[in-house]
Amino acid sequence: MGFNDTLAMTSSYYAATANAWQDRPTLAGDHRADLVVVGAGCTGLSAALHAARAGLSVIILEGGRVGWGASGRNGGQMIPGLRKGAVELVRAFGVERARALLDLAFEARDLVTGLIDEYGIACDLKTTGHLLGAARDKDLRWMAAEAECLATAMNYPHVDLLSAADARAQVATAYSGGLLDHRGGHMHPLNYTLGLARAALAAGVTIFEHSPVSGLSAAGGVRVQCASGSVRARHAVLAGDALLEGLAPRVNSRIMPVANYVAATRPLKDPVGLIPHDVAVSDSRFVVNYYRLSADGRLIFGGGERYTPDPPRDMAAFVRGHMEAVFPQLRGVPIAHAWGGLVSVTRTRLPHVGRQGEVLFAHGYSGLGVILSTLAGKLLVEALQGQTRRFDLFASLEPPPFPGGVALRGPLHVLGMLWYALRDRL
Ligand SMILES: Cc1cc2nc3c(=O)[nH]c(=O)nc-3n(C[C@H](O)[C@H](O)[C@H](O)COP(=O)(O)OP(=O)(O)OC[C@H]3O[C@@H](n4cnc5c(N)ncnc54)[C@H](O)[C@@H]3O)c2cc1C
Repeated sequence: MGFNDTLAMTSSYYAATANAWQDRPTLAGDHRADLVVVGAGCTGLSAALHAARAGLSVIILEGGRVGWGASGRNGGQMIPGLRKGAVELVRAFGVERARALLDLAFEARDLVTGLIDEYGIACDLKTTGHLLGAARDKDLRWMAAEAECLATAMNYPHVDLLSAADARAQVATAYSGGLLDHRGGHMHPLNYTLGLARAALAAGVTIFEHSPVSGLSAAGGVRVQCASGSVRARHAVLAGDALLEGLAPRVNSRIMPVANYVAATRPLKDPVGLIPHDVAVSDSRFVVNYYRLSADGRLIFGGGERYTPDPPRDMAAFVRGHMEAVFPQLRGVPIAHAWGGLVSVTRTRLPHVGRQGEVLFAHGYSGLGVILSTLAGKLLVEALQGQTRRFDLFASLEPPPFPGGVALRGPLHVLGMLWYALRDRL
């Protein structure tokens, strides 16, 4: 929808290798349900699936196609935890609350792999680990403290601190070392999302595609309005993430959409030589590079900063520069697919989860939504059922709005990114 339409999803590796999906109809006429969900990415689909399993009648309204938001076009990296590390969380919230938050975030990984298993979702799941590569020597200091804090105070003994040589054994580029989380991994995100949608349909959920919601009112029950129909419901879930736009300005002012670009090479001659143990990799730069192998031996690489809102004319060339800086040995390797997507970030880099009466929402995973979004959808349904403890824990993180709201956040973001990109270079 909107700007997202210019980001070449049809050229993506994921669209080219998507499992079969039968298009759903456009909403026509007036409908009723217990729950109406706006948006069919992983947040909305997970909320719908969990609500249907709890016995609610559910309608999803998707403005475009199921999975064609961030959920079906991301890097596919399963990175356990939150965008803020354990040490920072302890500093901000104390040990007990940090541990409760991370316990919940870590649960997301098992929730996702459990659903993949339960519904037999064919999405190239690899539970091979996630490596956070240290871009600078000084990163090793905080990485050592992070691994120690995770293992002791957070009771999460799954992360190893790697030396430069250990990191080199994981990926054929130069890092000063890194953190290897053995519970990370990667997957084909569009096929996972379509699998969730199929599970939701089987549980009795009704999905409408090409049905953008243009109006929302919450007086005397919830009512959402599309061009060709409406849905009345007891509750609504807003799961539009970076694409929600003007539907709920107060909710929306706490997230900032940032365009990010991804490319997939042709299958490599020696993928194992590049990433021998098939881990997903991201680096410690503020403007993150992230990459992994696909099931058919391509490199799927995302990253690089861009300060103008319009997409680069040649997305493949844009990503190639960043890819070849990390892997000079791939110079000239053909790129078969390139596309973009909108990541939603918050000022704190922690998710924005909450409710306004009977309207619940979750978004702003700040680049870590592949597994967190499925968990967030489940937490919203727990809250609807009156089990609010875990929902409240995430809701208590409420990030502040961007100054100037929706109008000013773009220019401010550009300034912020320039500053951090400069710091990366220095
Ligand atoms: C390029 C890119 C790379 C990323 N890489 C990673 C990664 O490797 N690892 C990781 O953990 N995270 C990554 N992320 C983040 C992750 O993809 C997202 O956090 C997550 O997918 C958000 O899921 P969602 O369901 O909340 O939103 P989306 O998947 O964006 O779904 C929102 C849906 O709502 C619909 N919608 C919006 N408004 C309306 C409306 N008014 N009416 C009807 N429908 C509406 C949209 O059409 C869309 O389909 C990446 C994101 C991008 C863009």
